[in-house]
Amino acid sequence: MSNYHIKHLEEYYQVYRKSIREPENFWEEVAEEHFIWRKKWDNVLSWDFTKPEVKWFEGAKLNITENCIDRHLATRGDKTAILFEPNNPSELPEHITYKELHKRVNKFANVLKSFGISKGDRICIYLPMIPELAISVLACARIGAIHSVVFAGFSSTALSTRINDSDCKMVITSDGSYRGAKTIDLKGIVDDALENCKGVKSVLVAKRICSEINMTLGRDHWLQPLLDEASDDCKAEIMDAEDPLFILYTSGSTGKPKGMVHSTAGYMVYTAYTFKNVFQYRETDVYWCTADIGWITGHSYIVYGPLVNGATTVMFEGVPSYPNFGRFWQIIEKHKVNQFYTAPTAIRALAKEGMEFIEKHDLSSLKVLGSVGEPINEEAWHWYNDNIGKKKSPIVDTWWQTETGGIMITPIPFVTPTKPTYATLPFIGIQPALMDENGKEIKGNQVDGRLCIKFPWPSMARTIWGNHERYRDTYFSAFENKYFTGDGALRDEVGYYRITGRVDDVIIVSGHNLGTAPIEDAINEHPAVAESAIVGFPHDIKGNALYGYVILKDVGETRDHNNLRKEINQIITEHIGPIAKLDKIQFTSGLPKTRSGKIMRRILRKIACKDTSNLGDTSTLLNPEVVQEIMDNAL
Ligand code: ATP
Ligand code: MG
Repeated sequence: MSNYHIKHLEEYYQVYRKSIREPENFWEEVAEEHFIWRKKWDNVLSWDFTKPEVKWFEGAKLNITENCIDRHLATRGDKTAILFEPNNPSELPEHITYKELHKRVNKFANVLKSFGISKGDRICIYLPMIPELAISVLACARIGAIHSVVFAGFSSTALSTRINDSDCKMVITSDGSYRGAKTIDLKGIVDDALENCKGVKSVLVAKRICSEINMTLGRDHWLQPLLDEASDDCKAEIMDAEDPLFILYTSGSTGKPKGMVHSTAGYMVYTAYTFKNVFQYRETDVYWCTADIGWITGHSYIVYGPLVNGATTVMFEGVPSYPNFGRFWQIIEKHKVNQFYTAPTAIRALAKEGMEFIEKHDLSSLKVLGSVGEPINEEAWHWYNDNIGKKKSPIVDTWWQTETGGIMITPIPFVTPTKPTYATLPFIGIQPALMDENGKEIKGNQVDGRLCIKFPWPSMARTIWGNHERYRDTYFSAFENKYFTGDGALRDEVGYYRITGRVDDVIIVSGHNLGTAPIEDAINEHPAVAESAIVGFPHDIKGNALYGYVILKDVGETRDHNNLRKEINQIITEHIGPIAKLDKIQFTSGLPKTRSGKIMRRILRKIACKDTSNLGDTSTLLNPEVVQEIMDNAL
């Protein structure tokens, strides 16, 4: 037995040890017992991090949609696979059963084929969070086309760059999208983007907001009439284990986005196995991840991981603030959600709002809470734990990346005792290492360093689309024979990991390595502070000094700013030490964020260093207007 479902800590250690000692046997057992294959593999794993080249389950043949859909038809045909909750709470939710999903994916796949799309072609999907998004992803996988989903909040420039980078033949979009009280003209953005994308031959358009849009004759086609005509029977293309399943661009917080390429078999096995354990999913549970399918979290833990396990996965079209700040809590009550997975940025935004939005709703269905995307600060962790989980639903702080395909460091709920701000223990099969600046592994506990992974895991990205050299340089050249994550971490006295931020953001002040996350955590403890970001700037004596950008909770805060600065430094001194005190503190109404809600620190760093002539690629910014405000008020 491969212990597909881990239930207590001892078992975790036992399975973990096995997964490290005999990784091939371990993953082979998981793969044998819990998936369907058209043909089994000849070899479980071959790898060479110097090339780098990694192959899992080589020789195996499969189609991931047969694992996500077909095999459930006999036992779960009438179970809801996708539970669609629209933007507007008065519009009815849609329960798409596994049987219906099967039909709709097959029809969609046949439409793709009718446009000449076949195995290996790249398709760009630029859709809001409506069922067609998940269905088109699966339809591509059904026929072996490689999907490249671009988050439908990106600008036309960001979209055209991504379309051209991977030579997409087709774009799937909608007339527009709803976002709270607003509508967005998606088709208009696509039209603009396609001015610069000559390779796109056809555009399929789903109708969502019924707006007037331009349809270019011969290129653009309404989707629904084509689906109505299409057959609901489409044989799954038989794929090799290592055939690419999709391309997904990283969120771009540190530079030009990279088109990460994920494989079929390894990705399927790892996302399914992590989903089952990290969320302790049981057959009748309703699981909800609030991410957008445009991010890796949505790929792995809205679509593939849950569906391979035959789960019910909620897809929410809207935003947490519409029609009011109780929307998330209302949905949890309405659909009796058992597992709720969201991001620190959303938690912090909702924590700023009053408790009345929460108290109105019955959250007793919740069993497990998740967090992903950034370090979750201590205050937000406690707020989430106390008010949403009512101290009875463990928080899984899951650390991972677009590149890793699946969750890498995380507690297993009811198994691993949690600790605020700690992602805790490596998941089964994951071998982390902390490295020092000289490339040596730091052994033992109570240490910190650069976070690497020493051994391949099934869902790791195989390359950057069209640029294998960049893949090697970015991830496999900093440390010999290791995958370098770009993040810094510390390991505490019991071996728990805490992600301290990106290594680029580790600031050396008077010879001390200071991670940004713990300092920001301390600042956020101040009752007047909503959010903060710190960066380094050159300093004659200390080498570097710290510059803090602070958002206050109450914009009308009338307290003397110099007093607030003193109080903030006082808190830092208490929590970390005087070494981490900030030389400059700028109060601001906002911080530059990527569309996935992450702070784009390189811009803040440039402003702090008074080097604003070239701010670099800002196409992934959500709120470019705040950059000017910050520059105008820079200290
Ligand atoms: P780019 O690589 O283009 O700069 P990105 O790193 O923001 O973009 P993602 O792959 O979406 O793109 O994000 C992964 C990163 O998010 C991790 O490397 C880490 O810095 C951060 N992260 C994710 N989850 C956590 C977590 N639970 N705790 C701390 N940091 C996290
Ligand atoms: Mg990254």
